[in-house]
Amino acid sequence: MNDKLRKLLVGAAFDPHWTCAVCGREIFGGGYFCRDCLQKLPFNDKAFCAHCGRALDAPAPVCDTCANRLPALDAGRSVFCYEGAIPPLIRKFKYSGARWLADAFADDLARLYRESGFTADAAVYVPMRKAAQRKRGYNQTELLARAFSERTGVPAICPLVKRKPTKRQAALAGDDRMKNLEGSFAAAERHAAAGKTLVVIDDVTTTGATLQAMAAALKKNGAKRVYALTIASVSRKGHKNPKS
Ligand SMILES: [Zn+2]
Ligand SMILES: [Zn+2]
Repeated sequence: MNDKLRKLLVGAAFDPHWTCAVCGREIFGGGYFCRDCLQKLPFNDKAFCAHCGRALDAPAPVCDTCANRLPALDAGRSVFCYEGAIPPLIRKFKYSGARWLADAFADDLARLYRESGFTADAAVYVPMRKAAQRKRGYNQTELLARAFSERTGVPAICPLVKRKPTKRQAALAGDDRMKNLEGSFAAAERHAAAGKTLVVIDDVTTTGATLQAMAAALKKNGAKRVYALTIASVSRKGHKNPKS
């Protein structure tokens, strides 16, 4: 059976992919979004931070987060601004079992990967603690990284483990988020990151603390370069005169 036919049959049986991921309207001709919703999606393609890739309120070289510290991250990009249809869609993906959305998001992550010119040896997903993953039933960043891998040929790996239970990041602000995550990732297997250029795949760039902590742990374990790709980013003010 050819690939297209298999996809059609499997899709028809299991995949809610025949309806728009945002409004639920029927779609003809493939894709994950109806024409109206696709037009309204807040693609992060206007002003964004040249370093971490988050959306900016106004054009500037880097965001205020990147201007204030030097992340272990080499560069990042994100597909969408965290606004409009995107926050409910990401909540659906993370908390309501909509695993199939990984495929919808991965199409754009793969496109952005090609556009950004990051060439990575592997795509790294963010580890979850076992109990948390059992509760959710899946690790959403693993689904993303695997779907990304199918589209790019970049293997999905997770050379890190989550060390200690962290307080829910969403409940914390700025510096507390950084502290909460510091040292929370450790090497799962020695040398898995050594000498490699890696791209971390995550859902949302909020403060950048997760990406920073992941990149720092990967570099500590020998990674040569660490990039990041996320579905969406929360916009920040730009910084005109970055300290380097
Ligand atoms: Zn729609
Ligand atoms: Zn930035």
